[in-house]
Amino acid sequence: MTRQILLKSRPVGVPSVDNFSIREIELPQLASGQVRMTTHTMSVDPYMRGRMNDSPSYVAPFQVGEPIFGGGIGLITESRADGFEVGNYVMGFLPWQEELVMDAPGLRVVDETIAPLSYFLGILGMPGLTAYFGLLEIGKLNQGETVVISGAAGAVGIVAGQLAKIQGCRVVGIAGDDNKINYLRDELHFDVAINYKSTSDLEAAVTAACPSGVDVYFDNVGGAIGDAVISQINKFARIIICGQISLYNATSQPVGPRVQDILLKKSALMQGFIIGNYSERFPEGLSALAQLVSNGKLKYINTTYHGFEKLPEAFIALFEGKNLGKLIVEI
Ligand code: NAP
Repeated sequence: MTRQILLKSRPVGVPSVDNFSIREIELPQLASGQVRMTTHTMSVDPYMRGRMNDSPSYVAPFQVGEPIFGGGIGLITESRADGFEVGNYVMGFLPWQEELVMDAPGLRVVDETIAPLSYFLGILGMPGLTAYFGLLEIGKLNQGETVVISGAAGAVGIVAGQLAKIQGCRVVGIAGDDNKINYLRDELHFDVAINYKSTSDLEAAVTAACPSGVDVYFDNVGGAIGDAVISQINKFARIIICGQISLYNATSQPVGPRVQDILLKKSALMQGFIIGNYSERFPEGLSALAQLVSNGKLKYINTTYHGFEKLPEAFIALFEGKNLGKLIVEI
């Protein structure tokens, strides 16, 4: 028997722990081509909120009464699959479940000698690749340009900001907590970090932080923060629409400034992207990121919750800004 966390009901607005429930299930016998594993670390990610709604998106909705799935790492305890040994750590899309029997082809063995295991859910996983390809393919940075990043102290933001610094850009981060601001400025050497929660005039703060205007905006949050930054863009600016977390719990469609006029006058590009668009190039991105990590040029940090039953609480914490860096749960 093992425990599994289900979507009990679809959240309206901000999710609560009441939207989740736990049940016990019996694990099947191990078949050929399968592995048995214990779940080691799970990633909780903002996009999972969209999957809790019953509406079409780029990934199918979770079903009420069925387990939540997310990126995770497991330790193989029994194997009937070639290339998967007992004691290997593997990653894949896993149900929120303590013990698993899974088909091996959906899993990838993780080499924990390269970096700490948790990095494969962060800087050497989906969030790191998102920062890398968003900047490379849409941002197209030039040395000396000003790059503004919202959600700057999160899993994607801290990688994006450091990559922009490595490219010789002036980097301005926006985040919602003084500890995060200090980390961005003192540890990651962002040129300016703005606390959007304690700043009374965000547009004025962005203007002061970007005396030469904004060339690239890496948008993780959207909403009023996006409005304040987009009003400051330069000619030929690139706006990378990576995420819109400020809208994920919205119960009605908010209306902001209509930005087309600004894009027109500034000959600017605004482009959304989903990291899966670049899946064929993941090896290239991972190799570049791994090299920068091993050279000590990219730092990374996690916020870790402990215990299987903490998964819902950890997920909800993303919308409360409780994480610095990647939010993970050690099972
Ligand atoms: P994260 O930044 O580690 O965690 C979420 C952070 O968002 C929180 O810590 C909080 O930080 C901030 N936040 C929460 N609610 C907010 C609000 N109402 N207004 C402003 N900020 C808010 O998450 P992540 O994994 O790095 O993801 C960042 C963004 O990228 C998300 O929007 C996510 O959906 C998106 N994403 C997109 C792709 C893609 O393929 N396009 C891939 C990965 C992630 P503060 O303390 O600063 O408020």
